[in-house]
Amino acid sequence: MEIERLRYLSQAGLDRLEWIHDPRCTVCGHPFDGWIEGERTCPHCLEIPPAYDRALCAFRARGSARNIIHKIKYQQSPWLIEDLVTAALDNPQFRRHCAGSFLVPVPMHSHKKRERHYNQAERIAQALVHQAPGCTYMNALTKILPTISQTKLGRTERRTNVAKAFALNPNIKLNTHARYVVVDDVLTTGATLHACAHVLRKAGIKNVDALALAHG
Ligand SMILES: [Zn+2]
Repeated sequence: MEIERLRYLSQAGLDRLEWIHDPRCTVCGHPFDGWIEGERTCPHCLEIPPAYDRALCAFRARGSARNIIHKIKYQQSPWLIEDLVTAALDNPQFRRHCAGSFLVPVPMHSHKKRERHYNQAERIAQALVHQAPGCTYMNALTKILPTISQTKLGRTERRTNVAKAFALNPNIKLNTHARYVVVDDVLTTGATLHACAHVLRKAGIKNVDALALAHG
């Protein structure tokens, strides 16, 4: 992609982004290293299917993408989001995955938002709406319980940790026939995106997908 479209990211930073290509899990987007024929679902998704139909991530959460996301989350640099979203949407598959959908950010608990001043998932969803065709931003969910960081938890613990953390935003009007895509910065085991998708499913939405900028 042309570096001119980016405001802050250098050519070196762009070159170090590791795009995820097929083959990958058709449900959670987990990249398969090596050559696999046809469509495949990873063992985790076969064992406990997530509430979303399909998740897609643009980059691997290592190297350059990991550094940028770390800066976005922990070093008060939300302005880097726009560039990372521009780079992600350069991938036609990622662009198609967003197009024409209601984009629902993973909500942050009010205590944490007060601390960080912004929710990176909201900023990512807003940046995607600006750049991807036919998307609508929708703050459909709220975080009703604070949760501990998922980083040191295992796969099952992560699901339990966030299981009852999310709810529908009061007074939100949903179109149960539309496609909703839950948006986060990083998908690790998919527990958070699953918990959010579950709330949307319970509200009667049939078409629920997910996306994250990075998979790690
Ligand atoms: Zn999977």
